[in-house]
Amino acid sequence: MSETILTTELLERIHSRAADYDRENIFFTEDLAELAEAGYLRALVPTEFGGLGLSLKQVAREQIRLAAAAPATALAVNMHLVWTGVAKALHDRGDTSLSFLLHETGLGEVFGFGVSEPGNDLVLFGSRTDAAPEQDGGYRFTGTKIFTSLSPAWTRLGTMGLDTTSPDAPKIVWAFIDRTVSTGARDGNSNGVSNGVITKDDWNTLGMRASQSQSTVLDGAYARADRVVRRLDPGPNPDPLIFSIFANFEILLAAVYTGIGRRALELAVEAAGRRTSFKNDGRALSQDPDIRWRVAEAAMMMDAIYPQIDAIARDVDELANHGPQWFALLSGLKHRATENAKNVVDEAVRASGGSSYFAGNELGRLYRDVLAGLFHPSDAESAHATVANAWLGPIDD
Ligand SMILES: Cc1cc2nc3c(=O)[nH]c(=O)nc-3n(C[C@H](O)[C@H](O)[C@H](O)COP(=O)(O)OP(=O)(O)OC[C@H]3O[C@@H](n4cnc5c(N)ncnc54)[C@H](O)[C@@H]3O)c2cc1C
Repeated sequence: MSETILTTELLERIHSRAADYDRENIFFTEDLAELAEAGYLRALVPTEFGGLGLSLKQVAREQIRLAAAAPATALAVNMHLVWTGVAKALHDRGDTSLSFLLHETGLGEVFGFGVSEPGNDLVLFGSRTDAAPEQDGGYRFTGTKIFTSLSPAWTRLGTMGLDTTSPDAPKIVWAFIDRTVSTGARDGNSNGVSNGVITKDDWNTLGMRASQSQSTVLDGAYARADRVVRRLDPGPNPDPLIFSIFANFEILLAAVYTGIGRRALELAVEAAGRRTSFKNDGRALSQDPDIRWRVAEAAMMMDAIYPQIDAIARDVDELANHGPQWFALLSGLKHRATENAKNVVDEAVRASGGSSYFAGNELGRLYRDVLAGLFHPSDAESAHATVANAWLGPIDD
């Protein structure tokens, strides 16, 4: 795959820090600083907004490379890339409602994805967070968002909640909140104070530890009127914002987990060359037919997934019209890519032997990280329901 913004040297530095971040359960502060410096956070921002103007297909390829170096870094950066990708997709379709986000990304703002909620399996189509309208057209959000990646670093949070009090309620309100608000200090230095946002310290997980996806409590967090980007009816909705979130989220997530599979295959090849067989006169296990079969199996699984990500990302870039099949294609891709990566890591572990079971082993870490792919929307049940609806129609009432 061609190299663009993420140079080999940068990826090596990022890779060299991943084990420490995981062991210490700390955020990837140095990685983020280097990625910002390289312009990576502006990758999807069109050039007229001060960005690099890359396509979704190009960035998905970069995310595969970044995830191969450091999965948790790639997964958390993904959340910012998703929002910039959403704004780009809308912009490409003549919708300027998120152009402010492209502008602010050019100025260095970092966008978190504050959507998931405890016990909300409607995901985008329902909310347990209260969105209270203000006189000025803004909204105040009160509720808990879980798994907010980039917790120590985001400066803007894209979020949603349910407005139950407006005359046209109920509406799902989508908006962006600032992490801090200015106190307008008299000396001209505007001191930032929290905008009703509390980040809990509850991220102690099996994998993806450096993402620091802490719970976020919104306690009347305020979004200005010009940051309220949609008021939608609850339930499935064909609004371009929903399509753009879905498209960017599923494709970039597929890329992250594919990067894990890619690295696992490399590690399996290394292990096969390094380990020797007593049974086979000390020859390397790369000569063993069973190990060769496992590595080949993993390689075939990887070869099949790259072109799928490319093709679907290209279709989003080129405004292809898949009509009602879009959601099935996107959730199917995410499901296949995450399951594929999990199976590849599994083959790699089997081909590499017991050393991968020791704490601190990279393949062991990938085994833990890749599991997180199961939990992201669209999970297996939701993806199958979407695809079944696309082919068979809905289940009768
Ligand atoms: C590494 C990682 C990073 C992620 N990053 C983001 C992100 O940046 N932004 C984002 O929006 N999402 C993010 N997600 C969230 C993710 O995509 C899923 O939404 C999340 O995993 C929820 O899974 P679940 O519903 O199966 O969890 P569950 O296990 O069902 O629930 C998760 C939590 O909610 C509580 N809960 C469940 N049901 C109820 C209930 N009825 N009442 C009260 N509490 C309840 C559980 O006790 C648990 O603490 C991330 C997930 C992972 C694994």
